[in-house]
Amino acid sequence: ESLDKGLEKTKTSFFTKLGKAVAGKSRVDDDVLDNLEEVLVTSDVGVDTTLKIIERIEQRVAADKYMGTDELNKILREEIAGLLSETHRGEATDFELPEDKRPYVIMVVGVNGVGKTTTIGKLAHQFKAKGFSVVLGAADTFRAAAIDQLQVWADRVDVPIVKQKMGSDPASVAFDTLSAATAKNADVVLIDTAGRLHNKVNLMNELSKVKRVMQKVIPDAPHEVLLVLDGSTGQNAFEQARQFTKATEVSSLAVTKLDGTAKGGVVIGISDQFQIPVKYIGVGERVEDLQVFNKFEFVDSFFS
Ligand code: GDP
Repeated sequence: ESLDKGLEKTKTSFFTKLGKAVAGKSRVDDDVLDNLEEVLVTSDVGVDTTLKIIERIEQRVAADKYMGTDELNKILREEIAGLLSETHRGEATDFELPEDKRPYVIMVVGVNGVGKTTTIGKLAHQFKAKGFSVVLGAADTFRAAAIDQLQVWADRVDVPIVKQKMGSDPASVAFDTLSAATAKNADVVLIDTAGRLHNKVNLMNELSKVKRVMQKVIPDAPHEVLLVLDGSTGQNAFEQARQFTKATEVSSLAVTKLDGTAKGGVVIGISDQFQIPVKYIGVGERVEDLQVFNKFEFVDSFFS
């Protein structure tokens, strides 16, 4: 139910626009499709993904010769579920970790302010609640506040944190964190990293160095590179995804702050455009408001 509440603004805005798009029309014709295109683009689904959806609907209209506007809701739901299925193979419904990789190392990336620290804290809580032992690594050494905030979460969730002083080498913090986690037989490691996008070459170099040094401790680390995006920034989130996927190999996404925004369509567009699964969504400030993204629940919550 927190998912429904979290997506409320996106849904209300989407269905208001959709209602206007089909007003006075009983069948899906070119006008309706044009309007629908605008609805999707202004709902932050992204131009490429919007065109893909429109094209698929056009094909269905052509094949069936007729589509009533009353069916549009159902058809959009099917097409969006289909798109999500292309990126989300093997759907997790709970906070799970692969059994054969311990400690499982998640390197968390994203620009400041998107909710990176909060997401790490919430993940630590959720994994711990599932019985996994967690270690945090404060490898965003660029800002003292980043280290302090992560410490606050470590205290709140009661999990160990590895940190050094501000300005120290992030790769060295990552090395220490993985060494400590290995020594403790920890199940999962969450490494916070700096997200300064203004210098792409630096970002790329820093992230590859962190990875390289981690691999001295655990050869196949990181097992996951989780990019955190602020869903309420809409098109900015697309741009950040573009930059980070160029700088490093991103394997999963967390989209935060969906509760305060009507731009929830980014979840569909970003996962389709970058072919990277959205693994977690943030729909509020409470720890339980970080949810494992489930495409079925998402589509159900959106279209019902
Ligand atoms: P960081 O700079 O990326 O580490 O960002 P923080 O983790 O400090 O988060 C920035 C702000 O966003 C904080 O006030 C968080 O409470 C808030 N925040 C993070 N995720 C969510 C979410 O899913 N919903 C809402 N409403 N706020 C969030």
